[in-house]
Parts: sequence; structure tokens; C-alpha cells
Amino acid sequence: MEVTLLEATEDPEDLVCKAARNDYSAEFVGGQSIEATMETVEGDTLEEKKETLIGHLLDHGHFGPFEHPQITFAIEGVSRSCMAQITRHRHVSFDVQSMRYVSFDDVDPADVRDGEMVVVPPSATDPEWVGRNQKQGAVDEADVERRAEIFRDTIEDAVESYQELLDLGMPPEDARFVLPIGTKVNIVMSMNARMLMHVADMRAAADAQWEIREMTEELLDIAGEWCPITFDHYEREMKNRKNRLAP
Ligand SMILES: Cc1cc2nc3c(=O)[nH]c(=O)nc-3n(C[C@H](O)[C@H](O)[C@H](O)COP(=O)(O)OP(=O)(O)OC[C@H]3O[C@@H](n4cnc5c(N)ncnc54)[C@H](O)[C@@H]3O)c2cc1C
Repeated sequence: MEVTLLEATEDPEDLVCKAARNDYSAEFVGGQSIEATMETVEGDTLEEKKETLIGHLLDHGHFGPFEHPQITFAIEGVSRSCMAQITRHRHVSFDVQSMRYVSFDDVDPADVRDGEMVVVPPSATDPEWVGRNQKQGAVDEADVERRAEIFRDTIEDAVESYQELLDLGMPPEDARFVLPIGTKVNIVMSMNARMLMHVADMRAAADAQWEIREMTEELLDIAGEWCPITFDHYEREMKNRKNRLAP
């Protein structure tokens, strides 16, 4: 998986502060410098004033101003299972690589065993891995070897069958039905800073699946550079709070 930043609002936290100050200021924030907008906020420097205001907004659940800054990510090589999970978030905009227009006819099925085209989850090969709703009890080495063998044989066979169906003239949009849910997909997705915190509440949580959790942690790393005050506060004060929305 690779998560990269495609585009993001410049000076996102100035924008949050301007939007929030607009609510409580008699002055018009349009055309005003950020220094003028923040003049009466507590703090010695502009940075401190932003920390005061942004911390106050987040602590009081005043999330509206965080809807103005937008960010777009490009994500490479997550499973279609992960895609099904992230696309449940209705305030995120998506473009998803099509399997009607892109056919994976040049992939060597033997490479699929090592993670080409299909995500191989750690539980296929790692004896120490603990996942949800797993059969209890000790797992011996032979079980793990067999698990890896079944998983790899199955995905290799599926890709071989898919390519054979393409060769036999089946359209990619139908031949794809034989591919596993772990088949990789590239996604472009955009959301605002408020939504990113909501996605993180749901998907960086311990009960989320490892793949979407890993992806969300990478989104948060990028967000931390983009909106440092906001996401630092989020990570310190909010991320593991008890009353997050639960499914
Ligand atoms: C660990 C985990 C397990 C899950 N398991 C399952 C599962 O087994 N089956 C399954 O189907 N889903 C499952 N989900 C998905 C989950 O139920 C939600 O659909 C998904 O997390 C989207 O989040 P959301 O409901 O907050 O909505 P989002 O689309 O992210 O919207 C954000 C917020 O906007 C508001 N909102 C958006 N649309 C509406 C609306 N129409 N009406 C009222 N308020 C709205 C809500 O406050 C919502 O929280 C799981 C999610 C997680 C994190």
C-alpha cells in the first residue's frame, strides 16, 4: 500500500480560524490579514493564538470550521475489501480504478503468490498474528504453512482463471467475478478535515481491520503535516476518546 498527498488547501488552519472568528466577530474577515483576524485571541504569537482557538473549537465540539479545508489522497494497492469499507463514508468523494476498463492481463500469476495484484494479509503467514473472530487455541507451524499454501494457491489459481477467461473472449467486467476480494485497487479520495477526523475515529480504532487501520494511520501522518495544530490536538486529546461514534 502507498498513500500519497495529491492536493490540499493551502494554509488550512488560517482558513479554520477565519471561518471560526467570522462567527463571533463584528468585523468582516474577508480581505483581513490573519494577524488582524486573530488579534483578540489569547496568545503571544500567531502560532499560540491558533493553538488557543483550534484547541477550543475541538474541545467544545465546534467542528463546522474544519469542513472548509479539503485534502485529496492517492492510494495505491489496497484490497477491494478495504475499498468497500472506506467507501461507506458518505462525505468522502472517491474515484476508484475500474476493472471494466483495466484488465490485469500482463500479471504473471506466479507473482501473485508474493503480493502482486492481490493483498496477502499477515495472518496468511504470521503465526503470531491475532485477528478478530479467529478460531481459538494454539496454532502449530504446520497449520501456518498450510494456511499460507492454501491462500497462495487459491489466489494464483483465481488470477490464472481470470486471464484464461479474458483469452477466451470474456469481457473484463465479467471475468473479474472470479477474482478474490483481496484484489488490489487504486483510489483517489477527497474529504474535509472534519471528515478526516471522523474517518480516523472509525478506522484508526483498535476494532477496525488491520489494513484500513494502516491506511488511516498513513492519512493521519499526512494530515499531521498539513494541519499540524489540529491533528496534534486530535491525536493527543481525541483519538482514543470513549464517546466516539460507533457503528
Ligand atoms: C469496526 C467497524 C465494523 C463495521 N462493520 C460493519 C458491518 O458489519 N456491516 C456494515 O454494513 N457496516 C459496518 N461498518 C460500517 C459502519 O456501519 C458505517 O457504515 C461506516 O463506518 C460509515 O460511518 P458512519 O455511519 O459514521 O457514516 P459516514 O458516511 O462516515 O457519515 C458521517 C456522519 O454523518 C452522519 N450521517 C451521514 N449520513 C447520514 C444519514 N443518512 N442519516 C443520518 N446521519 C447521517 C452520521 O452522523 C455519520 O456518523 C463497520 C464499521 C467499523 C468501523
